[in-house]
Amino acid sequence: MKAVVKQVPEHGAVHVVSVSQPSPPAGDEVLVRIHSAALCGSDLHAFEYIPSYHSFLKIPVVLGHEGSGTVAAVGPEVTAFAPGDRVMSEAHLYCGTCPICRRGNTTLCENKLVLGITTDGVMREYALIREKYLHAVPDGLSFAEAAAAQAVSVSVHGVLGRVTIKPGDVALVSGPGIIGLAAAQLARQCGAAVTITGTDADEAIRMPVARAMDFDAVNCERENVIDYCMARYGRKADIVLECSGSSSALVSAVDAVRQGGTILLLGVPQRDVTFPLARMIRAEVNLISSYGSSWEDYEKTLALLANGSLSIMPLLAPYPVKDAEKAFHDGIEKTVVKPVLQFVPDAG
Ligand SMILES: [Zn+2]
Ligand SMILES: [Zn+2]
Repeated sequence: MKAVVKQVPEHGAVHVVSVSQPSPPAGDEVLVRIHSAALCGSDLHAFEYIPSYHSFLKIPVVLGHEGSGTVAAVGPEVTAFAPGDRVMSEAHLYCGTCPICRRGNTTLCENKLVLGITTDGVMREYALIREKYLHAVPDGLSFAEAAAAQAVSVSVHGVLGRVTIKPGDVALVSGPGIIGLAAAQLARQCGAAVTITGTDADEAIRMPVARAMDFDAVNCERENVIDYCMARYGRKADIVLECSGSSSALVSAVDAVRQGGTILLLGVPQRDVTFPLARMIRAEVNLISSYGSSWEDYEKTLALLANGSLSIMPLLAPYPVKDAEKAFHDGIEKTVVKPVLQFVPDAG
């Protein structure tokens, strides 16, 4: 069967290759016929082989942690799913038994494996996944949306779970990728006035998409975001949702947030960042980190997508699997928001 594999530890080296079919499902395993696998920042980082990935990227590895498909077969202990069911997979394979998992923080599991990074991922025609990591895909959601729901669940975990956004809050969202655009929609639903910030690199595709979703979008390389906030709202931001992982955006967030405001860190910087901590302490700025998503976050995300509260269809760019390398290049060049590989030609 076909799979998208990072083959050797160097830049690029991602190809569609033939790999062996998984064995029949045992125990609580589900054999999923993958329809869609979305590309995430971490897949692009694996492609680029950035230094911070060298220590934990398993090579060779089947890439992808955002997958959806139909159940092809189930192991004898599976109770929640049957062949033909539409499912999507969580990205982090938590153990469920370490002290952190037992406290309910499965996103922070001490023993977790990450699909497509530390264990083979979902960019292949069939994948064996334990039933506890799968979610039923609601009717009306396409496989592409269901795959990308993994990324959206990260926004749901952060915006709905880690901070409180109140009606009337001024919210800045830095980074108009799918996590930022989903976070922006969630903040707007909480009643915040939302402005999305991006850079020149986002001007071609991502900023126009943000504006088409009726968001104010400011290019912070062309316009001063604080001046913009003061002119538009008469104050700095109550909350900054940092979704870019860019170190300059992180430092700008400290300038752009008001005294007593909150910075939610959803983007992961590729290297250590120097922060004006004394200034933050004197201003009582709350710095809240957010990582991954729980079982409940996935369920909430699928519900919000299915009932139309969140819209990601305009962000998705489908590619047939044979064009996987082009999808990676386009993702890196930011000529699309979210590339999605379609393993089944007629998949929605
Ligand atoms: Zn654990
Ligand atoms: Zn992802």
